[in-house]
Amino acid sequence: MPRKMETMSTLSRMRQASNRLRRQAGMLMLALTACAAAPQAAELTQQLVEARAARLYAARLNDHVLDADARFTTRVTTIAATLIARAKRDYPETAGWDWEVHTTNDPDQNADCMAGGKILVSQAYVQRLELADAELAMLLAHEIEHAALNHNLKEYQQALRLEPRWAERPFLELEHAVDHADALIDQLAATNYEQEVEADREGMQLAWRAGWPPEQLAGYFRKMFRESASPRRSKPDYPSPLTRWQAARALAAALQKNQVQAPD
Ligand SMILES: [Zn+2]
Repeated sequence: MPRKMETMSTLSRMRQASNRLRRQAGMLMLALTACAAAPQAAELTQQLVEARAARLYAARLNDHVLDADARFTTRVTTIAATLIARAKRDYPETAGWDWEVHTTNDPDQNADCMAGGKILVSQAYVQRLELADAELAMLLAHEIEHAALNHNLKEYQQALRLEPRWAERPFLELEHAVDHADALIDQLAATNYEQEVEADREGMQLAWRAGWPPEQLAGYFRKMFRESASPRRSKPDYPSPLTRWQAARALAAALQKNQVQAPD
């Protein structure tokens, strides 16, 4: 396991998903690489990334009890709807996505938004951090930004730049390798670190434009810091909870100080 549990506290894209999901993805990969029509990594497009995310998301939904707590699910979908509406305005290409939002109570999950707008939120995680609505909005906005900014696509593109030989391999092998091949994971660490910083920064501004007060949004990072077992430890692919909280406070203060009105 190249990544420890702590790194999963907020980042929940495919590569940080649970062991069960990893196994599932691996099985799907094996099944699909057996297919002669499997695309090469050189054929990588955002469309391909979204199509794969839709398949994997459907497999994950099959593996979970979904939306069991109606009140929690309504809370999540209501907050997500506001953020999604804003994202559709700010990132027009996402307006055509088949956005989906579901909840689970799986303690191994936290929250994530896969490519194409496929959201899964763990009630266990939200309850463990005792997130208020604005803090939940910050969590969701961070994840939505990963999808809206095409972070999965960009990670694969970076892998192809770093190791051009991947272009001649099936895309599904590359997809597997970014999660499992230690050398490639190390090579992509700086990219992943930058994507986390970007999702934090852009996520706060997305949620702010959607109407949440910046200082309340920053509260999410305070709670994440409080919950972390090693809140001051940054990693090559992940800023420490302290670093993230400090950055969030600074951005929230700047948004407040400048008294910039959230655009309509
Ligand atoms: Zn993240």
